[in-house]
Amino acid sequence: MNGNRAVIVGAGAAGLSVALSLVDRGVQPLILDRAENVASSWRGRYDRLRLNTSRPFSHLPGRRFAKGTPMFPTRDQLVGYLEQHSQNQDVKLRLGVGADRIEPGSKGWVIRTSTGEGIEAEQVVVATGYENKAVIPDWPGRDSFAGTILHSADYRNPSAYKDKAVLVVGPGCSGMEIAYDLATGGAAKVWLAVRTPPNILLRTSPGPIPSDIIGVALLKFPLKLADTVTRYGQRSDFGDLSEYGLPFPDDGVFARIARNGGEPTIIDREVIEAIKARRFEVVGAVRSLAGSAVLLDRGMQVEPDAVICATGYRRNLEPLVGHLDVLDVRGVPKVRGEKAAAEGLRFVGFVPRPGALGYIAKEAKLAAKAIARELQKAEAPVNG
Ligand SMILES: Cc1cc2nc3c(=O)[nH]c(=O)nc-3n(C[C@H](O)[C@H](O)[C@H](O)COP(=O)(O)OP(=O)(O)OC[C@H]3O[C@@H](n4cnc5c(N)ncnc54)[C@H](O)[C@@H]3O)c2cc1C
Repeated sequence: MNGNRAVIVGAGAAGLSVALSLVDRGVQPLILDRAENVASSWRGRYDRLRLNTSRPFSHLPGRRFAKGTPMFPTRDQLVGYLEQHSQNQDVKLRLGVGADRIEPGSKGWVIRTSTGEGIEAEQVVVATGYENKAVIPDWPGRDSFAGTILHSADYRNPSAYKDKAVLVVGPGCSGMEIAYDLATGGAAKVWLAVRTPPNILLRTSPGPIPSDIIGVALLKFPLKLADTVTRYGQRSDFGDLSEYGLPFPDDGVFARIARNGGEPTIIDREVIEAIKARRFEVVGAVRSLAGSAVLLDRGMQVEPDAVICATGYRRNLEPLVGHLDVLDVRGVPKVRGEKAAAEGLRFVGFVPRPGALGYIAKEAKLAAKAIARELQKAEAPVNG
């Protein structure tokens, strides 16, 4: 299929945000996705997942959630909402088509795809997601482990772990929620391995106010003040969890985000209560695996039936654009949003921050504006 003006790679929230923003500007984009459905990342996530960002900060550009949607939509509500907006008649969708490599072409770019087809486009937006490829650390002895090892991206619900001992690795939102899900869902024993203490925030606080609303307000404050206010909130919300293995980290929420050191762990009060009731046990970081044992920091050892790794993701952009000098040393796009990484090539998404969806919507609108302007310029008759 050739002669496309704008092609977007990825039909997640970022790709759809760009597509709809382009439609709003009179451009009919084509979206490619390697999956058979839109919103495939969200479809594959665990059953109890709901957004930890609130409805007003998590919608597609100019398209609010339907009335009656809860403040924190469930996984399935978000998928349904993204699906609904992907049906826009001005958005062309090609599913089951993976982009393998993007190369310069005579009309701008050629996208080499998994079907063998080369798709030409004047403008390309890469929106393949910050959480593109699940990463399980290469611990010594990993292959010798007698139990099951899986990534949190492959965990759905606790049914397969009834009466089993499970080690969850990583105290981010997913790790903490999965440990809770298992502990309250019939697992015999649950440990949570923690290397760096997380900065925990309640999903709503103070009172019923979504914490991301407070977070957005605090972003306007000087960093130190924002962290002081947040630490005060943490102390009054749930207090010092040191005796449960989760001391307050030295750096505050905002200082950590600023140095790209990780997002806060946003959880519900019931998870805090489970920690205090020792429904799951916090242990040290994983050092190595050997047979049925997992060796942890401080000489501790556990023998789980399964290890669930909430250990993050890679961007995995190298095969697609690694040859175009548009990635930094960490494999993250050097520029995103309205700024083109190369003429007619942009990245949207790739945001390692809380409130990613809201941020993506803003970035997408700016990218679409720049693309529409460039397409118009390319169409304009040359004088003389
Ligand atoms: C467990 C979990 C919970 C989260 N909760 C929140 C939350 O509450 N609020 C929030 O703001 N953010 C949250 N996030 C971050 C969230 O994923 C992003 O906000 C948002 O979904 C990212 O959208 P995206 O379109 O950039 O990426 P994705 O949703 O990952 O979409 C990328 C799309 O690109 C496709 N694709 C990838 N590679 C290719 C290729 N080579 N060719 C073709 N298609 C390709 C994929 O199939 C996918 O459909 C969460 C993340 C995780 C892991």
